[in-house]
Amino acid sequence: MHVIVLGAGIVGVSAAWYLRAAGAEVTVIEAREGPGLETSFANGGHISVASGPWAAPDVPGKMLKWLGREDAPLLLRPFRWDPALWSWGARFLANCTARDYAANAEVIGRLCRYSGAETAALREALGIEDQNSTLGTITLLTTPAEMASAEGKEKRLREAGFEATLLDAAGIATAEPALAEAAPRYAGALFAKDGETADAHLFTRGLAEASEARGVRFRYGARVERLVVTAGAATGVVLEGGETLPADAVVLAAGSWSVQLARTAGLRIPVYPGKGYSSTVPIAGRNGAPRMAVVDEHAKIYVARFGDRLRAAGTLELAGWDKTPSQRRADATLSALKRLFPEGGDYARATQWTGLRPMSPDGRPLIGRTPVRNLWLDTGHGPLGWTMGAGSGKLLAALMTGATAELDPAPYRPGRFGWLVPRESAG
Ligand SMILES: Cc1cc2nc3c(=O)[nH]c(=O)nc-3n(C[C@H](O)[C@H](O)[C@H](O)COP(=O)(O)OP(=O)(O)OC[C@H]3O[C@@H](n4cnc5c(N)ncnc54)[C@H](O)[C@@H]3O)c2cc1C
Repeated sequence: MHVIVLGAGIVGVSAAWYLRAAGAEVTVIEAREGPGLETSFANGGHISVASGPWAAPDVPGKMLKWLGREDAPLLLRPFRWDPALWSWGARFLANCTARDYAANAEVIGRLCRYSGAETAALREALGIEDQNSTLGTITLLTTPAEMASAEGKEKRLREAGFEATLLDAAGIATAEPALAEAAPRYAGALFAKDGETADAHLFTRGLAEASEARGVRFRYGARVERLVVTAGAATGVVLEGGETLPADAVVLAAGSWSVQLARTAGLRIPVYPGKGYSSTVPIAGRNGAPRMAVVDEHAKIYVARFGDRLRAAGTLELAGWDKTPSQRRADATLSALKRLFPEGGDYARATQWTGLRPMSPDGRPLIGRTPVRNLWLDTGHGPLGWTMGAGSGKLLAALMTGATAELDPAPYRPGRFGWLVPRESAG
């Protein structure tokens, strides 16, 4: 079986690795000049095995409060005429009930734990150097509501076997001395060892190199224009410029851009881009950088250290596929990092970045078959694609090759929204 995988982000490269391991012949097509250069490039780096979806009961209220505030952690540009945004948004809001949140968190958590273990196993087996750290995360809490929710989370984490402790201001400074100056500004914090941090780009590149060494072919700088569907089955892709590449099966793992590619096969997939920002600074010998990962729950800023670099990432902006940054939002991320760690790095040499998270309404990725025969999806990983990439690839490879899946695939079924509309496209 010759499989074409579209996209060399963490999700596509992971799928390619596991498909090759299962005996398939694999070609990865990537528009950029190398692997992991889009959304998998400068993300937050957190491999969060106990995370939930963004569609949560407190989110609709917060969205209303933040409406129109340019530097809000979650920004919906309200007067944007974009039917895709409104239909996606309605489904996102429908998933914000306490019951759906709990159900989605459960199945997302399952895939995150499975995938976190796979990522660690690949790193170890292939010797991938991705500057990972397992020292733990301090989540800084501002409001009484955040404190109350952290108490519940601490209990759940302990029950699940993770180390977790609630800290007061003095405890924060003791656990992470780089936070000594900022600690009094917070009501408290939750320290947890429920995951790790690592550079997603370095890992994706390492896995792509290992895949290539085992026979996966990569075509970089090749943009797919459309899928070829013949008699209800995917039979290949057409590149910009007109070249047609035949395949026995096609995997759509092109992140947020999977939407446009799926449409060329007549399918609408419920994914919308969630723009996020990151700022990375060289530590450059400064003595105020944290060793641990730090999250500011209120500002939705995620800080991680990768060797001699410090990065803050976060915030969500629902404004279509345009990657143009809002300078105010980009600067807000950098300022938040500077406020937390004034001596954390050389801020004059900061680099800013934006990426488009491929968001599904319920936070679960879409992994599995579509109504177009031999066309498979592996996308919609939203804010947790780095965490869920490896496990999603392994699950997809099992489904495609008829092997026994180690995880129940049903909760990630792409057709669960019932709106995939097949249509014949010209061959
Ligand atoms: C600010 C920010 C912070 C984040 N922090 C975290 C975090 O801490 N932890 C976590 O788990 N996740 C995090 N994420 C989410 C994570 O980065 C994404 O979910 C993940 O990178 C998605 O991977 P992907 O492979 O699906 O998409 P991508 O990495 O975007 O890869 C898709 C690839 O497809 C290619 N492509 C698109 N169209 C075409 C075409 N027509 N032809 C050929 N190639 C094409 C693109 O060039 C791209 O390389 C964060 C995201 C952002 C934006």
